[in-house]
Amino acid sequence: MSMRALVIDHIDDQYHTQLQQIEPEQLPDEPVKVKVLYSSLNYKDGLAITGKGPVVRSFPMVPGIDLAGEVIESSDPEFSVGDRVLLNGWGVGERYWGGLAEQANLRAKWLIPLPDTLTPEQAMWIGTAGYTAMLCVMALQRHGLQPEDGPILVTGAGGGVGSFAIHFLSQLGYHVIAVSGRAELEPYFTKLGAQQMMARDELSLPGKPLQKERWAGAIDCVGSHTLVNVCASINYGGIVACCGLAQGMDFPASVAPFILRGVTLAGIDSVMRPKADRIAAWQKIADVMDPTILAEIGQTISLDDAISQAEQLLAGAVRGRLAVQLA
Ligand code: NDP
Repeated sequence: MSMRALVIDHIDDQYHTQLQQIEPEQLPDEPVKVKVLYSSLNYKDGLAITGKGPVVRSFPMVPGIDLAGEVIESSDPEFSVGDRVLLNGWGVGERYWGGLAEQANLRAKWLIPLPDTLTPEQAMWIGTAGYTAMLCVMALQRHGLQPEDGPILVTGAGGGVGSFAIHFLSQLGYHVIAVSGRAELEPYFTKLGAQQMMARDELSLPGKPLQKERWAGAIDCVGSHTLVNVCASINYGGIVACCGLAQGMDFPASVAPFILRGVTLAGIDSVMRPKADRIAAWQKIADVMDPTILAEIGQTISLDDAISQAEQLLAGAVRGRLAVQLA
C-alpha cells in the first residue's frame, strides 16, 4: 500500500520539499518497520524542510528527527509487532529516512520503548527538546546539585529546551531563574515553575572573566558571551550544562571559573547518546512532567501543514512545541 511522506530532493542546487505518495519498496531496508503515529517539528527539521541549513546529508530524504509509533513488522528480536516505540536523533531525518511519513523502517538500536504513561502525541510534544532538557537536568543531579544549594539559571528560557528545563527543575524542587529576551513571557515562565526572570541583555555582552558568585548551576541553551558570563558567575564547585548555540557557537571565555572556582562545564549531546541514558531520561520525564503544563506547551498539526509550519518555525512565529499527526 502506498503511503504519504514528506520528501526533500536536491535538484540543480535547489532544495524541493513535497508531500508525496511513496511505495513501501522505496523505504530503506531496515529490520524494524514502524507505523508512525506522531512526529514533531524541531528547528533542525525546519532547516531541512526549507533548505535553509545544511542538515540533510543524502537525497531524497524524509525529514523528522523524532517519531513515536507502533511496530508492524520486525526481524530484530528486540522488538515485536505491537510494541510502542520512540526515536530521537541518531541522524534519522538527516542521514536516514525519518518520521515525517506514515511508515519508517528503522534499526533496533535507535528505538526505545515509549514510557507507559505517555501517549505518542505527548511524547512528540516533548520530543528532542524535552529529552535534551532532561539530559541537562540529569547532568546537574549527577554532579550532586541539590535544591538547597541555591538557584539554577536557565538561558533561552522561551525556547523548547529552556521551557522544559524550567518545568523539570521546578518539579524536582529547584529554585529556577528564567533568562529570556521576551519580557511578555513572564506569566508563561511562572506557570512552568520559574520563581524569577532575568533579561537576556544582562548576560549577552562581553563581561569580566570572574564575576560575583550568584547561582549554584545553570542550563545554557545559547552559548557565546552568555555562556561565558554564566560560567563566570557560578558558585564555587557549581556546574553549567551546555547544550545550545542560539546566541552563537563561539565561547570567548577565560579558564578562571574552572581553575579558581572548580566550576564544571558539562557538554550535552542528545543525538548520539547511548540507549541506557535515553531510557533513563524518558522515564524521568514521564515521572515529573505535569500533563496540564504539557498541554499548554504542545500543539498538533497535520502532515499537510508541515511545510508551512516549518517556515513559521524558522521565522520565530511558533510558541511551544509542534507534534505532527501521521495516523
Ligand atoms: P529554540 O529556537 O526553541 O529556542 C532558543 C531560545 O534561545 C529562543 O527561544 C530564545 O529564547 C533564545 N535566543 C534566541 N536567539 C538568541 C540570541 N541571539 N541570544 C540569546 N538568546 C537567544 O531552540 P531549542 O530550545 O529547541 O534549542 C535550544 C538550543 O539547543 C538550540 O541552539 C539548539 O540547536 C540546541 N539543541 C541542542 C541539542 C543537543 O543535543 N545538544 C538538542 C536540541 C537542541 P528567549 O526568547 O526566551 O530569549
